[in-house]
Amino acid sequence: MTEPSIFTRILNGEIPGELLADDDRVFAIRDINPQAPLHALVIPKTERYRDVTELAQGDPELLAAMIAMAKRLADEHAGGEYRLIFNNGASAGQSVFHVHAHVLGDIEESKLVGF
Ligand code: 5GP
Repeated sequence: MTEPSIFTRILNGEIPGELLADDDRVFAIRDINPQAPLHALVIPKTERYRDVTELAQGDPELLAAMIAMAKRLADEHAGGEYRLIFNNGASAGQSVFHVHAHVLGDIEESKLVGF
């Protein structure tokens, strides 16, 4: 049996983390290494999907639920506008292979240039 992911361990209260939102299928925590004033990770409770490609094929409704939660977080914490990032694969920057969306809000203007 594989070990629970770091995100599941936070959800279960085994290691500390700031829970920002929680519903029946999806939860959100604040990223430990924030890249913007709002930097949340939106995560499905299931670990079944490694990345957004698998998730979109396997459960598009769950992907839609993640995006709805991202928007709610942006509304609550960042005036409603946000950047949504999925890293897919180690060479693209993914380090946790339990699919998650980065939700960035109130991004410093200089960090938006060229992207
Ligand atoms: P990835 O690199 O897989 O796209 O994103 C993983 C994210 O998880 C990183 O932005 C990293 O800062 C965050 N992270 C890793 N370990 C922890 C942790 O223990 N607590 C929290 N809140 N975030 C974490």
